[in-house]
Amino acid sequence: MSQQFDVVVIGGGPGGYVAAIRAAQLGFSTACVDAFKNPEGKPSLGGTCLNVGCIPSKALLQSSENFHAVQHDFAKHGISVENAKIDVAAMLKRKEDIITKNAGGIAFLFKKNKVANVHGLASLKGREGEKWVIEVSDNGAVVDTLEATHVIIATGSSPRQLPGVPVDNVTVLDNAGALALTEVPKRLGVIGAGVIGLEMGSVWKRLGAEVTILEAMPTFLAAADQQIAKEAFKTLTRDTGLDIQLGVKIGAIENKGASVSVAYELNGEAKTVEFDKLIVSIGRVPNTAGLNGEAVGLQMDERGFVVVDEHCHTNLPNMWAIGDVVRGPMLAHKASEEGVAVAERIAGQKPHIDFGVIPWVIYTSPEIAWVGKTEEQLKAEGVEYKKGTSGFAANGRALGLGQAQGTVKILACAKTDRILGLHMIGPMVSELVTEGVVSMEFKAASEDLARIVHAHPSLSEVIHEAALAADKRALHG
Ligand code: FAD
Repeated sequence: MSQQFDVVVIGGGPGGYVAAIRAAQLGFSTACVDAFKNPEGKPSLGGTCLNVGCIPSKALLQSSENFHAVQHDFAKHGISVENAKIDVAAMLKRKEDIITKNAGGIAFLFKKNKVANVHGLASLKGREGEKWVIEVSDNGAVVDTLEATHVIIATGSSPRQLPGVPVDNVTVLDNAGALALTEVPKRLGVIGAGVIGLEMGSVWKRLGAEVTILEAMPTFLAAADQQIAKEAFKTLTRDTGLDIQLGVKIGAIENKGASVSVAYELNGEAKTVEFDKLIVSIGRVPNTAGLNGEAVGLQMDERGFVVVDEHCHTNLPNMWAIGDVVRGPMLAHKASEEGVAVAERIAGQKPHIDFGVIPWVIYTSPEIAWVGKTEEQLKAEGVEYKKGTSGFAANGRALGLGQAQGTVKILACAKTDRILGLHMIGPMVSELVTEGVVSMEFKAASEDLARIVHAHPSLSEVIHEAALAADKRALHG
């Protein structure tokens, strides 16, 4: 006998679990089916983000930054620590404890909101009258059959693999392996200088690895504003010590078990390097295998993404899709907002997501963050703009933190002064970027930011000063 629901959400990541909670809050009987198992083989809610993505990577970044600070910054504060050592097992345990705590938190919220928490792989079987039938299996055996009026697909994404180079998570690693290394490798190679490659490279570099990042694109962080990207490249190579090679053509890769050799071409010159571990971080692909989408007529594009309209509705009746499995940036907060919007649309509300005002963050040290258009995009679109920049070098709070490095740039419409983009590299810009998000959502002018009182001493004063600079009224520039 099938269990009946108004809404079944497939996937328990930041898109799916948030959609399920919101649907239940709106009065729908809701189930969330998730297939993820942790390394001990136990179900763990939270998807990629919580288990092998956003949260564990930030835990390790913090540990590695602390280790680096003890060795390089504490002496300036008059604090001496001799023979600082890193206990990788303790660091990994701290990371695992954070995951367990938050996964338990999601399970608690499911209980609180009466969301049925179903573990297993969901497969679409077709329609019985007005209902979608979903079969759930675990370890190859069918464990449940659910029927739902609405289905929300939130199956996320998986790491893209290099053809002919299987990930074994011993020598050749994806994000899960890179977050679970039990010792610091001497020589670490990273293929791909995107967000994941830079964050993972930074962790292991700060813990003592020699890190080489090989990137096919000739431009560093092509999606970012290039003034900020250039500053980031300089800082990450000079201060963090990452060896980042751009415009590389990867050749043969041989996994020898204890090491891996990578042949590549750079500026016409053939090279081969030997690494102890190699992280492959060349992007992610949507998860649709096992969903049985083709059999029920679910439309997917040539790259495997589920095709949706601006409301995240698929080509099938009452079937929705959100998060990494659909178009748009592969970001947890984008997935969650889509989850809320779909649940509210099912309830007959008219939610709206402004896809032009989604913040991006790279949690290197210093952090990189932006929202809105880059200078390159504005130029390409022929938009007349003005800009204001300011740096963290003389900011009192940044000096106190010992992180007085970086830049904030505001781009505003030359005619209306409306803010079009905010781009930053510097301390805690992951937090500061929200000032840009709020300003842009409220359609603020750069003058508005310039006339708002910012606390002193605070990092946000650099945004204030950049806004003043856009109006040619900089006080400290
Ligand atoms: P996911 O989180 O991938 O969750 C999908 C879930 O569905 C998984 O549990 C999966 O097992 C399950 N599933 C798949 N198929 C089925 C099926 N048929 N039946 C049942 N369950 C199924 N984003 C940020 O915004 N900030 C960051 O700092 C950040 N850092 C990251 C760091 C790393 C190392 C990585 C890899 C990613 C990072 N991301 C970050 C991206 C972020 O993790 C994703 O954008 C986000 O997890 C997408 O959410 P989702 O709900 O769409 O899918």
